[in-house]
Amino acid sequence: MKSAPKGERIIITLLGRRNVGKSSLINAIVGQEIAIVSDTPGTTTDPVDKHYELLPLGPVTFYDTPGLDDEGYLGELRIRATQRVLSKCDISLLVVDEMGITSYEEDIIEELKDKAIPIIVVFNKIDIRGPKEEDISFCKENGLSYVEVSSKTGIGINDLKEEIIRIAPPYLKEEPLLVQDLVKQGDLVILVVPIDLSAPKGRLILPQVQVLRSVLDCNATGFVVKETELSQALKSIAVKPNLVITDSQVVKKVAEIVPEGIPLTTFSILMARHKGGDLGAFLEGICEIENLEDGDRVLISEACSHHVLEDDIGRVKIPKWVLSYTGKKIEFDVRSGSDFPEDLEKYKLVIHCGACMLTPTEMRRRVLECKRRGVPITNYGVAISKVNGVLERVLKPFNISVEEAG
Ligand code: SF4
Repeated sequence: MKSAPKGERIIITLLGRRNVGKSSLINAIVGQEIAIVSDTPGTTTDPVDKHYELLPLGPVTFYDTPGLDDEGYLGELRIRATQRVLSKCDISLLVVDEMGITSYEEDIIEELKDKAIPIIVVFNKIDIRGPKEEDISFCKENGLSYVEVSSKTGIGINDLKEEIIRIAPPYLKEEPLLVQDLVKQGDLVILVVPIDLSAPKGRLILPQVQVLRSVLDCNATGFVVKETELSQALKSIAVKPNLVITDSQVVKKVAEIVPEGIPLTTFSILMARHKGGDLGAFLEGICEIENLEDGDRVLISEACSHHVLEDDIGRVKIPKWVLSYTGKKIEFDVRSGSDFPEDLEKYKLVIHCGACMLTPTEMRRRVLECKRRGVPITNYGVAISKVNGVLERVLKPFNISVEEAG
């Protein structure tokens, strides 16, 4: 089985006390010995992941987490690692053994509900004894989905898989939207891909590959070109392209080359719909750029760490464009990796990267967190198009305007 990209997998997290059988349960689901199984409580130190193809959902990753009932310094570290996994979790399995549902499990349920993570209570070890009546009643009264299983005998494991598929949020079951609503069979789509110093050696980046694949899935023709060869390419093709999709960093130049009558958009805007589906929030967010004042702080948030080059997009280019557009003395903070700041309120605007390494759920949570705290959020592509004066044009293929969104 070919491995799906990290940001495209559904994350299923197993939680519960130490030694309730979380590791054995993953083994039973995937049918392999992968997690460390021991009778000694707390054997799992860091969340352990296992990839699996759970059809019809698709590629999933099961995270086997250490117990949240850990004590001491090491326990603290384990708990923090588990919390990090929860920040990207799509579905949770709360594993319960013969002790049943105690205040410990109830606290986890509350936390998962707060984070809006779907929960399945898994009563494990039913080969030893079934769940208590009061625990079943607790699940029913609280609208919790539950399944009875034995990792040892395999009883109930298929029911559990079916329940995971059933409770998965609809957006995880739908075909992710890239160009399907913009491109039809027989169309010609030009993809503009700059190969500069920041481009990875010997390959295209994930959003470019995903968009090209989506064009091919529409039975359309994909034509990939660098911005330096675009004029020549347009002259050499006999038909007018139905759509041009460009990397945001060269959108200004590409908008000058591509005649007005040819629809134009960016990879970033397509990814904003694909990841978290909240282009509307990003368009609302960018309106805030007009209100920035001297001394305001803007957060540049990147979802993965990379080697920083001289002309780095997040650290150099975007701040330079924003300063020049606003004419204000704005401060920028850059945060990268899984680290999304707690103190969001100190920022007047968050400009987020394309999030190709995040799952849609993870990106949705970041957007929701910004909304909850009243902090506008936008993304690189929207911000770059705005400060380069081409935002209205790159939105036209979607029949939306910035005014409508704001
Ligand atoms: S910084 Fe963001 S868009 Fe760029 S590669 Fe990392 S996750 Fe993807």
